[in-house]
Amino acid sequence: MALEPFGNEPFLDFRNPEELARTRAAVAGVQANLGQEYPLRIGGRALSGPRLFESSDPGVPSTVVGRVHMASAEQASLAVAAAQEAFAGWSRVSAWERAALLLRGADVLRQRRRELLGWLAYEVGKNWDQSDGEIAEAIDHFEWNARQLLAWSSGKEIQPLASEINQYRYLPLGVGVVISPWNFPSTLPLGMAIAAIAAGNTVVLKPAEEASVIAHQLYGVFEEAGLPSGVLNLVPGYGPEVGDALVRHPDVQFVAFVGSRAVGTAIHARAAGLVPGQKQLKRIMTEMGGKNATIVTSAADVGWAVREIVASAIGYQGQKCSATSRLILVDDVHDGLLEQLLGEIDRVASSSGPAAENWGYGPLISAAARQKVEGFVAMAPRWGKVLREGARSGEGHWLAPTVVDDVPVDCPIAQEEIFGPFLSVLRARTLEHAVELANQVDYALTGAVFSRDPKEIDFARDNFLVGNLYLNRSSTGAMAGVHPFGGYKLSGTGPKVGSPDYLGFFLQAQAITQKVRLPRSR
Ligand code: NAD
Repeated sequence: MALEPFGNEPFLDFRNPEELARTRAAVAGVQANLGQEYPLRIGGRALSGPRLFESSDPGVPSTVVGRVHMASAEQASLAVAAAQEAFAGWSRVSAWERAALLLRGADVLRQRRRELLGWLAYEVGKNWDQSDGEIAEAIDHFEWNARQLLAWSSGKEIQPLASEINQYRYLPLGVGVVISPWNFPSTLPLGMAIAAIAAGNTVVLKPAEEASVIAHQLYGVFEEAGLPSGVLNLVPGYGPEVGDALVRHPDVQFVAFVGSRAVGTAIHARAAGLVPGQKQLKRIMTEMGGKNATIVTSAADVGWAVREIVASAIGYQGQKCSATSRLILVDDVHDGLLEQLLGEIDRVASSSGPAAENWGYGPLISAAARQKVEGFVAMAPRWGKVLREGARSGEGHWLAPTVVDDVPVDCPIAQEEIFGPFLSVLRARTLEHAVELANQVDYALTGAVFSRDPKEIDFARDNFLVGNLYLNRSSTGAMAGVHPFGGYKLSGTGPKVGSPDYLGFFLQAQAITQKVRLPRSR
């Protein structure tokens, strides 16, 4: 028996009037359901938390998207206990049954994708195009991991030895914690949780506060697909309280985290310690931020480069870990490219409006996120020539893009992750110089180079040190299976999501040897 080969989920075509009408109806359905209350989901039960969090629309902050019960640290422990209880059963479910469940999950998500798109638009201000790309990737995670788990379930070939049967196989680890950020609120928690569950583990999911309602929609997908109670437990909560309690818990075997560098490095340190009662060191995955550079040389197709740079710098308002936040221009191309770039940025940013109506440019996630970016906007004149200055507008957390030219490599706006619509432009003498500048940051997540010269492309391939290098295309938009994603240096610890290696993080290897030709006893 075999599954048909993996293929990426096609995107919805909003130019098709029927699709447009279907999606509009689904988004209107979501609008009619805003403001509901969401309890914790532990061991299949719905429980109240000690506090309610009002998740709001970043474009219209007076609109409450949902009232979410936030767990206490004690309830986080309860969730770990529920996951531990469920592990005994789930870890023994056959690989085929687990794969079948994931495929059902993919089908449920396909049916609900327009509705989920509406939740993304309302809760995190992501427009239809961006949301649909993300949800297609989430469907891919179900399909990809169904195939991956079958491949891993038969173990790996090892060297045969006469007189023995030797087996090399993989076992689940136990209870894992998944902690996710708000900016890819469906594909990131799902990517981690699906892989963990596919491997036979059970999971406690602590989503980002800002995307808690979406996390409940994802829980609903697993529930409808028939996942047994307790295999996935959902405990929205405050990071320093609930996240921290989960990370330190002695019965947690692994922590899969995606988020900021500050939180990721702290989690790495905390999860590494032993606490009383702990029987095993935790396995830790921390995928963190970026300060991604795009390089353009005089051998580039400038028109194409401009479109791709703008999409990656201000698509979803620059709130992507993979967003281009440094543009390194080789001297000859500098003036001509910048002129076109500013025109394109102005065009995209002027198409600003509610994400639920699919406008191109939306709000930032929160007042705090906007204030953080504004802090960098305020310091920008000290570090370069400000070509566009991000200004506020409207009721929500809107902020126009900022572009700063002639930025030195070692200043804060060229070194720190700003995580918003802010582009620092650096000048380089040659491609070699540009790559040297690009590598001069602590991060190594994504990078892009635009050039039609094969020698330049080869040089970039060999010298530009990032987890995902894109040649002649934007630094954003990874597809599962096709572009395995993840960074190194202070951007991440390595296992790339959507890769053939990813499931290995959630499994432990076992070697079994059976002697079959026993020496004759005398
Ligand atoms: P964040 O680090 O503030 O929060 C991430 C998660 O950690 C949230 O669920 C939060 O509640 C939790 N948390 C906070 N404090 C905690 C603590 N003390 N202990 C345990 N958990 C805690 O990040 P964010 O603002 O939600 O997301 C944006 C960041 O995520 C950016 O830095 C971005 O680059 C990064 N990111 C990285 C990737 C990647 O694949 N490398 C992908 C998307 C986003």
